[in-house]
Amino acid sequence: VVRMNKVNKHYGSLHVLQDIELEVARGEVVVVLGPSGSGKSTLCRAINRLETIDDGDIYIDGALLPEEGKPLAQLRADVGMVFQSFNLFAHKSILENVTLGPIKVKGMKKAAAEELAMKLLTRVGVANQKDKLPAQLSGGQQQRVAIARALAMKPKVMLFDEPTSALDPEMIQEVLDTMVELAQEGMTMIVVTHEMGFARKAAHRVVFMADGQIVEQAKPEEFFTNPQSDRAKDFLGKLI
Ligand code: ATP
Ligand code: MG
Repeated sequence: VVRMNKVNKHYGSLHVLQDIELEVARGEVVVVLGPSGSGKSTLCRAINRLETIDDGDIYIDGALLPEEGKPLAQLRADVGMVFQSFNLFAHKSILENVTLGPIKVKGMKKAAAEELAMKLLTRVGVANQKDKLPAQLSGGQQQRVAIARALAMKPKVMLFDEPTSALDPEMIQEVLDTMVELAQEGMTMIVVTHEMGFARKAAHRVVFMADGQIVEQAKPEEFFTNPQSDRAKDFLGKLI
């Protein structure tokens, strides 16, 4: 579904993505780990075209990004993204937050969009909050709305960039549970997280980044029990 081919990006003199080669197959769940500043967020943002890249290619479902003539909004619809901060539209209801994309970008009729939104809000367990504003929800609920909103676009891949790191501890699990369910349903997912439990439970593969490079990748049990590189050993040694 996703293929990155020798992708490079610089911020001035900082080489933040270095010859990144990454393929993610349909239904695969990849967890991206690495120290702060290693380029994990930049990688996600490049896939979603929130960042330009200097060279290399990124394909989504075989289509080269950015695709000729395809509007960016359409392209982003194929890539659902959930950030650390919830990024919901503050002045729109929960229901509107989820229906807006399908109506505006996909040209869906309001009734159909609302039906879809209610299905998704039910799935993530916040259907009863549909008429509230984001600020009236807990962080965990808002993050589940953000997941529903991304899913409403029927994305080919879902990117998560530290979706639980801004949450109070008691709300982390409900968001992780939603993500595990999504993984079990076969969604293709790229997840940046410090939640090693999620990585062990749901990931098919761990990709470890340091200094803008993919240093190693392995099945979670292999990576956690037998990391190969000094950088990965050092990283894992610092976790409790
Ligand atoms: P964290 O775990 O802290 O979220 P990360 O792995 O997501 O880190 P990135 O946010 O991708 O790291 O940043 C990689 C490097 O690029 C960092 O050194 C950061 O300071 C730098 N960087 C990120 N965004 C910009 C920008 N817009 N301009 C300049 N430098 C940037
Ligand atoms: Mg980051």
